Amino acid sequence: MHQTHMIIDGEQLPISSHKVETICNPANQEPVALVSVGTRQDARMALEAAKKAFPLWSETACEKRAELLHSAADLVRERAKSIARLLTQEQGKPLKNARAEILSSAGILDYYAEEGRRNVVGVAALITPWNYPVDLLSWKVGPCLAAGCTFVAKPPSRAPVAATEFVRAIYDAGLPAGVVNVVHGPGSEVGAELVENPISRKIAFTGETETGRWIMAQAALHIKRVSLELGGQSPFIVCGDADIEKAAAACAQRAFSNMGQICISVNRVYVADEVAEEFTDRLVHQTERLRIGNGLKENVDLGPMFSNEQREKTKEHMKDALDRGAELLCGGREPEGEAFEKGYFFLPTVLDRADHKMKIMREETFGPVAPIMRFETVDEAIKLANDSNYGLAAYIYTSDIATGIQAAERLEAGGVGVNINNVMDYQMPFGGWKESGIGRELGHYGLESFLEIKHIRLGI
Ligand code: NAD
Repeated sequence: MHQTHMIIDGEQLPISSHKVETICNPANQEPVALVSVGTRQDARMALEAAKKAFPLWSETACEKRAELLHSAADLVRERAKSIARLLTQEQGKPLKNARAEILSSAGILDYYAEEGRRNVVGVAALITPWNYPVDLLSWKVGPCLAAGCTFVAKPPSRAPVAATEFVRAIYDAGLPAGVVNVVHGPGSEVGAELVENPISRKIAFTGETETGRWIMAQAALHIKRVSLELGGQSPFIVCGDADIEKAAAACAQRAFSNMGQICISVNRVYVADEVAEEFTDRLVHQTERLRIGNGLKENVDLGPMFSNEQREKTKEHMKDALDRGAELLCGGREPEGEAFEKGYFFLPTVLDRADHKMKIMREETFGPVAPIMRFETVDEAIKLANDSNYGLAAYIYTSDIATGIQAAERLEAGGVGVNINNVMDYQMPFGGWKESGIGRELGHYGLESFLEIKHIRLGI
């Protein structure tokens, strides 16, 4: 079986040196890999190693750092097939999406290879969640290394395999010992040590808002830099003049891909009264076409959910909505058949007649449900969209560009898609307003977050 090792100070630690856990496939519970469970002591050793490596790496010429990052990107691409397979097996997403995630992560390394600078923050702790375990790590690793910082990464405890393979490819590209380190283990221990230990000068975190709140409070004790990419509750507005067919297809794709386990997933759909019937019909049609199954199979659009806890939370939000008067239009249950018995499968679900009293419209579900609420004016839709503690992404579909731009300016979100269902691009800043986070990743801003500003004044 595949073995996932921690990497500390240029060494891959044998898994036998630690307690070992088995990572299982959410589609069928089959074992995928053995992984060692690290401790606070491992986190401390990794931080010490990163601290020791920092002077050499930060003073390495940026051309040399770029060369190593490009070589690392090439290695990730060379190994993309096998890493993607592991990702599908541990996380559930279809293989085509896993492959795209790995290739995109290699692209991030290439992008940041071209952006090296000076005056960097020092040792960084990079802590990531299970929904895009490789992609979200690459968003941190790329700018961190390009800037000249060293790091200790802590992948998610229940999906550490592909992320560790990604870091191993970077390590195999020949970076000096201690520049890249990976520790495994529970967030409450290993993650907490990386946050609390004064050696780390920057915490780059993606995960739940509650975890981010705790991290920010701990970081305050040492006035550490933080960038926090947290939860979302993204609205999708369909105006009366929108191209309804396009809007429905875009909505289905953004609400259900990765089983709705995306921070910028569509969580709330607001549709103009006059097009609500047509939109709803088309959305249901698009939803029922999605093919669900084991991610390793060809022609699968949706895999299982990552865990039973995620599935139970989705069901609980759905039940709360139905109890409060929502109408179930499709999905709403587990698919039937032997192929689905052992996995955490759930059918993509569309609800109509949702309102803001329902949990599904207020809390992050992180599951495949699209609840629809109707509106009379665009003004009202924007107020509803902004009535949330979150502010990560928002989408609006309209054929009037003025309406689109005015709405984009008024929507309280770090990214707004006008007639497009994605707000992620290597070169553009990504991040949240309100309780969705602080700081930005990607683009030039992603690099800035690993740099310090210094004013040097010479008296001559
Ligand atoms: P999580 O907060 O439970 O865990 C994220 C990481 O933090 C894991 O590696 C975990 O082990 C670690 N961790 C947990 N407690 C910690 C602590 N006390 N100290 C340090 N580290 C700790 O989140 P999750 O359930 O893995 O991921 C899902 C969440 O991530 C959702 O809320 C989703 O919206 C969010 N997310 C946000 C973005 C974004 O860019 N804004 C992207 C993807 C996911």
